[in-house]
Amino acid sequence: MTTDSKTPEAHQQPTPEIVPRPGPKRTELSQGFWDAVENKQLAVQKCSACDLLRHYPQPHCPACHSNDFGWAPLSGRGEIYSYTVAHRAFHPAWNEHVPYVIATIELEEGVRMVCDLLEVDPERIAIGQRVEVDFAELPGQGWMPRFEVID
Ligand SMILES: [Zn+2]
Repeated sequence: MTTDSKTPEAHQQPTPEIVPRPGPKRTELSQGFWDAVENKQLAVQKCSACDLLRHYPQPHCPACHSNDFGWAPLSGRGEIYSYTVAHRAFHPAWNEHVPYVIATIELEEGVRMVCDLLEVDPERIAIGQRVEVDFAELPGQGWMPRFEVID
């Protein structure tokens, strides 16, 4: 006589585990961006010497090489500059979203940011569509800027 040592639970299908998104690395250089996000605002570096706005955070101005900068708030409005549709998740946290849109957003102030647009139907996305920032608290990440198509 054999004994089945497995419990009834062991025969059930495992519940899909919710995998949190990998979080961004917050550094001293990007702290102004994250401080603004905590206040539900977008902000990018502004060169103190030539006023150039830049994103992602960088130690030196790409135009005049000054390392003095402040933080400038943005409108949060822009448009789809470019996009791609991901048909495979590069990380398990995106498995449930495929296919999904990854877009480069050009903000009214001229700087660009990359963001996934998980609520957008990939069949309905188009270059030039207007977008606006919103903020969401994501598991394991805190507050994050998110973009929504507004037309
Ligand atoms: Zn500069």
